[in-house]
This record gives sequence, structure tokens and C-alpha cells, in this order.
Amino acid sequence: TQTLLRIEDLQVHFPVMEGLIFQRQVGSVKAVDGITFEVRQGETLGLVGESGCGKSTTGKAILQLERPTAGKIYFKEAELTAISGESLRQQRREMQMIFQDPYASLNPRMTVGSIVGEPLEVHGLASGKEKRDRVAELLHIVGLNPKFITRYPHEFSGGQRQRIVIARALAVNPKFIVADEPIAALDVSIQAQVVNLMQKLQQELGLTYLFIAHDLSVVRHISDRVAVMYLGKVVELADRVALYENPLHPYTQALLSAVPIPDPTIEAKRERIILEGDVPSPTNPPQGCRFHTRCPVAVDACRHNPEPEFKDAGNGHYVACHLVN
Ligand code: SF4
Ligand code: MG
Repeated sequence: TQTLLRIEDLQVHFPVMEGLIFQRQVGSVKAVDGITFEVRQGETLGLVGESGCGKSTTGKAILQLERPTAGKIYFKEAELTAISGESLRQQRREMQMIFQDPYASLNPRMTVGSIVGEPLEVHGLASGKEKRDRVAELLHIVGLNPKFITRYPHEFSGGQRQRIVIARALAVNPKFIVADEPIAALDVSIQAQVVNLMQKLQQELGLTYLFIAHDLSVVRHISDRVAVMYLGKVVELADRVALYENPLHPYTQALLSAVPIPDPTIEAKRERIILEGDVPSPTNPPQGCRFHTRCPVAVDACRHNPEPEFKDAGNGHYVACHLVN
């Protein structure tokens, strides 16, 4: 399988300023602190981790909605981090983002027709009747009645709104979609419908997804491979089955031990791994392995040695832990 997107040593740091008149930088929030992975053509790569670990910032940096502090992003042949202006705009057209909250991401004063058709106008792809036909087709594709074209967002449920958001993202025929917790704000009863729609669209349109979520069950359902983030770093990345059945990183093991299993006999025998303490501040991540303050199996080397490298432990199962490699 081909690589569609590759990120190398990506960093996104935000300056922390102090002072009212004379502002000076007193530190930086290391939201994303040196991550490397690739997304393959046609796959869904799940990206999981607790809130604040850098998942959304990673997604935004890939689409250049946040300019990276350091590192490289390649999309197909282009190095996005090295281009700007019209050439960046051309590449960006093939990459779209779906945000968590379909209530906040739709302009309440615009009709569904103008919302979904806007990207076509912006990119000069269609106008007039051609645009209206394409919008009707897009609504049909996401399972909405094409007659909804003249209605406003407030007339729709959360699930329908997320379908409108998806239709808008698809308007320009993207290849790659970053979906940032696309179902987290929806009723549980609606979540499966939207996930199923996304899977159907992936099949039919040959889409590639980066699917960001904190819900490990949803990620297990939709992903081909899964990456786990902790405090600005990817600590483990593997095929879905390998990650869920044989997690190698102590953080992944803890996350998975907290997911309930439907079978009560297994559930009763299972051990929960409780992580002590809070996630440290991304302004000042711990020395050595940044997970050592909470890791149940940490040894001295974890505190004193340099941060563990993110390495292939075999068959493309990547992990960053001194005890594994
Ligand atoms: Fe835990 Fe040490 Fe591995 Fe870090 S390197 S995850 S602290 S065992
Ligand atoms: Mg987020």
C-alpha cells in the first residue's frame, strides 16, 4: 500500500507570554512535541489519547490550520511545510477536516445549499445550476433529502447537521479527511449511523481518514491502524488487532484496561490498571520518558535515560518504551 501522508518529527509549540505592556515569552506549550508517522492510501488511522494530548493540534497542523514549529509534512509528492500560496491551496483542496461540534461549525444564517456549495464557489469549481445539482447530489450521498437545500441548520438534528458538515467536506472531492471526534457531540443512538456513513463513503469514494477520538471502542470499530498519543508524543502505533490484543506500551495497556468488555465472565476476571496522578503540564513535560510519573512499571532508567525512541518492535508495531525494545 502506498503512503498518502507522512509527517516527520512534527512539533507544534505555542508561546506562553507574560507582562501587560512589555510582553515576553516565558515558555511554550509543547502541544505536539516531535511525532513521526504515515497514513496509507485508503486506510483509516485512528488517533487516540486523553484530552489535551495533542490529537487535535496534530490534525490541524496536517491541514496547515496551525503552522508547525518544526518538522515536515508530505502529502503525496508535495512537502506542505515548504510551500505556500496557490500551490498550498491546490494541495489543501484534497484535504478536509470534520470537526466535533456540528452546531458550532455551521453558519446559522446560511441555507444548507449555500453551506454545502460554498467550497465549490471558493475554489471556482461550479456555480449556478451546476452548483445546485452538485449540492443536491452531495446531500443524496450523505443520506439527506436534496429538498433540504433551502433550509437552515437549526431545522436539523445533530446527526443531520453532521451529515451536512460531511457533505460540505466532500464538495471538492477530497482524498484525505481529518475527522476530529466527529461523533463525540452526538446522541449515542445516532453515533453508529454517522460512523457507518463515513465507512460507506470511504469505500465508495476511496477516502483516507485520520480519525481522532478518545473513545477506544469507536476507534477499534473504524480503524485499520491505531496511534496512541500521550503528552504531545505518539507512544504506540500498530495494526488494530495487534494494538487491541497485544498492546506493548504501558500507557496503551492502561487505557485499554479501562474499556469495559461486554462478556461478564471475562469482565469479572480482568484487572484494571489505574494510572496515578494527573497528566503533567505540556509546558514542562517530565525528563526522560515523559510517562514515567504515571507509569506503573517505570524503572530508574525511565527517569534518567533520554526519552525512549519510537521504534518498530516487529511487523510495523511501533512503540516508545525502554522495556520493550
Ligand atoms: Fe514506563 Fe519506562 Fe516504558 Fe516510559 S520507558 S513507558 S516509564 S516503562
Ligand atoms: Mg481535541
